[in-house]
Amino acid sequence: MNTINYSLNQEIPIVAETDVLVVGGGPGGLSAAVMAAKQGVKTLLVERYGCLGGMAVFGEVTPFMCNHFNLRAMDRPVYVDWCRRMWEYHSSEMQQKEPFDEGYACGMLSKDEAMLAMEDLVLNSGAEILYHHTLVDVVMQEGRVEAAVFHSKSGFCAIRAKVFIDATGDGDLAVLAGCPFEFGNEEGYCQPMTTCFKLSGVDCSRMPDRAKINELFDKAKTEGRLQCPRHNVLWFHAPEEDVIHFNTTRIIMKSGVNGLELSEAEIEGRRQVRQLLDFFRRDVPGFEQARLHSIAHHVGVRESRRILGLVYQTADDFRNVAKYPDGIARANYPIDIHNPTGTGTVMERMKVEDWYEIRYGTLVPRNSKNLLMGCRAISMDHALHSSARVMPIVCSIGQAAGMAAALCLRQNCTPAELDGIQVRQKLAAEGAWL
Ligand SMILES: Cc1cc2nc3c(=O)[nH]c(=O)nc-3n(C[C@H](O)[C@H](O)[C@H](O)COP(=O)(O)OP(=O)(O)OC[C@H]3O[C@@H](n4cnc5c(N)ncnc54)[C@H](O)[C@@H]3O)c2cc1C
Repeated sequence: MNTINYSLNQEIPIVAETDVLVVGGGPGGLSAAVMAAKQGVKTLLVERYGCLGGMAVFGEVTPFMCNHFNLRAMDRPVYVDWCRRMWEYHSSEMQQKEPFDEGYACGMLSKDEAMLAMEDLVLNSGAEILYHHTLVDVVMQEGRVEAAVFHSKSGFCAIRAKVFIDATGDGDLAVLAGCPFEFGNEEGYCQPMTTCFKLSGVDCSRMPDRAKINELFDKAKTEGRLQCPRHNVLWFHAPEEDVIHFNTTRIIMKSGVNGLELSEAEIEGRRQVRQLLDFFRRDVPGFEQARLHSIAHHVGVRESRRILGLVYQTADDFRNVAKYPDGIARANYPIDIHNPTGTGTVMERMKVEDWYEIRYGTLVPRNSKNLLMGCRAISMDHALHSSARVMPIVCSIGQAAGMAAALCLRQNCTPAELDGIQVRQKLAAEGAWL
């Protein structure tokens, strides 16, 4: 690739100073900001888009996968509070029909309720929010992140903080701060991306069963009317009775942290959406009058960088249902690897009803002094990440980062010096299931 010499060396305004700066407003950032603010530390959450939500909102990822034990949601308090706040946006008729059940707390959500509920939780916690600012750089001083540099419509600006939480999902902040990371599987490929979408106007009473839909899907592929690497149609009923949610497009061998490939992925994902729309209307009973209800505004990125931390966990911990004194989250969602290079999905469930624990040290990047990971990009292998990445668990990861940041400030120590057992105890005192 040709290059051009460019350097930006200029004075930029410091638009905010805070104790804890959370970068990224997905499920992880939500939980980090809420938990840090609840500990009484000044907290600011900065998000590149104009709303909170991350993949749940602009990625149109609207099913919450279950991470339950004995039919109770294990991710609490922030995740369950988020679910409850969404439920409060339901009409009173809906609320009466389906009372809030914190045990269940998973299933399909409305992305708009999710977004409003997240903003409510963050603002009610006392944290502040800054939208439309994209992290582009950091200012380092003696190995510490001194300030994060953002770009917005007003140009470049900086925000100073004492502790930084990377909740970008991709580890953008940690990488800018020079932290080492892993990427993808052994061959360097990440799980495929997906453009999620919904169709409305579906007559669900006439919809064939899953096997029949898959048969029709295979036929259309054989006839050359569909080019989609998925082996079957992955779909869910949306809360509205005539709406079906699809997690069916598959974009393989592209990187979610390569700008050019991300752009190509958007175009490829929507190419598949057009074909699937045509296929459903033409081939699948019940979809004749289907309309496009919504399409993700950002291609869904399942996996990118995993920032290497003081502790590195592997799929062995899933298989051995490993528990640790410094475990900060419990998880039993399966290992769920959508084939990075083609068809098929590896799904490995736990043999017994149990859980493994995610350790505090996976949130503490190596070579960092005031940085924590509060998103999916934590220190574990490709297989274990495929389990820990789902939204309820990411909420538990985020809240642990928020708690750790607050404890570091109180104890005047670095995240590496902080005792993970204490983080666990403090989380439990806040209502975490630990
Ligand atoms: C197609 C697909 C299907 C999935 N299906 C499910 C499912 O059914 N159920 C489930 O529970 N989970 C599912 N997941 C997983 C889940 O959605 C994600 O793993 C989860 O959202 C990760 O949360 P996060 O906070 O780490 O990152 P994200 O949700 O990606 O949020 C990151 C946030 O940081 C912001 N950000 C990023 N970079 C910057 C920057 N440089 N500056 C400022 N802000 C920035 C983003 O705008 C975003 O708001 C799915 C994921 C995908 C992609």
